[in-house]
Parts: sequence; structure tokens; C-alpha cells
Amino acid sequence: MTKARILIVDDEISNIEIMNALLEDDYDICFATSGRQAIDTARIAQPDLVLLDVLMPDLDGFEVCRQFKSDAMLVDIPVIFTTGLGDTEDEMRGLSLGAIDYVTKPIQPAILRARVGNHVELKRLRDQLAAMAVTDALTGLSNRRHLERALETEASRLSRSGEWLSVVMLDIDFFKQFNDTYGHPAGDRCIMMVGAALTRAVKRASDVSARYGGEEFACILPGTDPHSAELVAQEILLQVQSLNIPHEMSQVSPFITVSIGVASARCSSTMEVGRWISEADQQLYAAKREGRNRMALKQFGSENALCHP
Ligand code: GH3
Ligand code: MG
Ligand code: MG
Repeated sequence: MTKARILIVDDEISNIEIMNALLEDDYDICFATSGRQAIDTARIAQPDLVLLDVLMPDLDGFEVCRQFKSDAMLVDIPVIFTTGLGDTEDEMRGLSLGAIDYVTKPIQPAILRARVGNHVELKRLRDQLAAMAVTDALTGLSNRRHLERALETEASRLSRSGEWLSVVMLDIDFFKQFNDTYGHPAGDRCIMMVGAALTRAVKRASDVSARYGGEEFACILPGTDPHSAELVAQEILLQVQSLNIPHEMSQVSPFITVSIGVASARCSSTMEVGRWISEADQQLYAAKREGRNRMALKQFGSENALCHP
């Protein structure tokens, strides 16, 4: 496990030295000696925890904390204030600004280590939970909820420039027979491998691949026109075929195949996001009807359907 990163902020170098000596064996430490430097360093270093002095000459700790909590890049970083003993009012003010805890100076080594340890562990669990909430456990791809959110964000972003957005939906062919023949655990392994094949075919950093449900997958391809989306879909067909997973009961191939529906449109503020999903779904069923192991594409806006083996 990589070490958690802690940002120590204090205008007194000697305080930084004391805390650094207590924490450096267990954590990756960075430090700042002013409020402004703390914000700049946190943006770059993305620490897991900040130990923040209250009294500093430029921006005081309260103002730094307030800026952390109103900055999307910093808001999730827990802040612990370090302050002189007995400043109850300061403690209240800090906590009301969103700080997670307090330690008093002079620093008591055991207490600092224990509090830092607890909050770093909580942060790690929170991060894990946040990742789990957007991930499909079987394939490690995005889950349906994350895909739908990403679709809304991308469609809205691209509507400003009227750019293309394509959505790909795919479904494993005759998968019920696969489960019946090889068993449910083999079915699960097959779903994982199809997910991996999808990842190999869908390469751009802004693309999102998801398990949409059961043996169905979906991808969002922002900034991708119908022709390029068709190439991606063809690549998915090839990647799945080249897994060479035997499927003796399939009526289209001795190996596992998928059918694919693609929907492409230029984004605009009047285009409803659900259209991409429903159009791609209709094309998926067209591909199934046409014989499976193929793709069907619709460019909507200028309603134009195509079917390709
Ligand atoms: P088609 O070619 O028309 O898509 O036929 P199909 O048999 O693939 O479609 P159908 O919707 O009839 O069956 C889907 C099957 O997928 C049934 C279900 O048991 C199986 N399935 C869904 N989710 C999972 C899963 O997580 N693991 C496994 N092993 N099977 C699943
Ligand atoms: Mg199926
Ligand atoms: Mg299905």
C-alpha cells in the first residue's frame, strides 16, 4: 500500500520539524509555511490530510480552511487544525468551517500520531467507498449509474460546441444457453473477459465503458462522429471474437459473440439525454434481429439507419 500523504502547514519551521519527525516514517510528508502556499501545494500534491496552523501572517488557518471547503479540488481533503492549548472558541470556529479535528500545541506525540492515523484511515475508507459507488464489482468497469451521470455531463458540455456524441450498447449473444451449458461461474468469467475486450477496443481517455446490467454493456464516446463510432463498434466485435471463448450452443458462431447498437447525434441543449440510450437500445435489437454478431447504427437528428455485418 502506498503511504498516505500529509501536508503540514505552519509559519514556524520548528513546528513543522517536530511534526515531520513524528510522522515521516509512516507518511509521505509535504509542507507549506504560508496559507497561500498551502493552497497551491494542496492543489498539486492532493494530500490525504492537512495539519493546518491557525495563526499565520498572510491567510490565517480559518481562511485557508474556508477556501479548501469551497474548492472542488480540495473539498474532500480532511483538515486538522493545530492550535495553542485551550483556544475553545478557535476550535468551535474551525469545526464550523468544516475542519475534522483539532490537535493542540505543544504537540503531544502519541495524540498527534493517533489522530492522524484515525483520520487517514477514515479518508482511505471514504475513497474506497466513493470508488465502489461508481464501479461494477465483477468487471471493474463503471456501473450504470456512473455511465448515466457521465452521459449527462458530457452531453451538456458538448452542447455548447454542437459536437458529436455516440453511445454504444452491446449484449452477449445467446448467453442464457452459455450459462445453461457451462454453468453460472463460467458465465461470470465470460462477462469479465468481454468487459476486458471492451476496454481494449474503447481507448480514448474521455470514453466511459460500463456494465449496464446482466450481460449488457454500454459506452459513451464523447466527440465521436458516426463513422468513428462505427470503427469502435467493429473493433469491439473483433476483440470479442478474438477471445475465442467456446460457445457450442450459439446459433451464430462456435465462439462467444456480441450484438451492438450505436446511436450518434450532435449535442444540443434541446436533445434529451435519454434519446442516446433508447436509440442505441433499438439499434441493438435491430442487430439481434438481423442475425446477431453485428452492429447497427443510427444517426439521429437526421434519422438515418444503417446495418452492417
Ligand atoms: P440474446 O442473444 O437475444 O441476447 O439471448 P440471451 O440468451 O443472451 O438473452 P437473455 O436476455 O434471454 O438471457 C440473458 C442471460 O444472461 C440470462 C441470465 O441468466 C444471464 N445473466 C445475466 N446476468 C448475469 C451474470 O451476472 N452472470 C451470469 N453468469 N449470467 C448472467
Ligand atoms: Mg444476450
Ligand atoms: Mg440481455
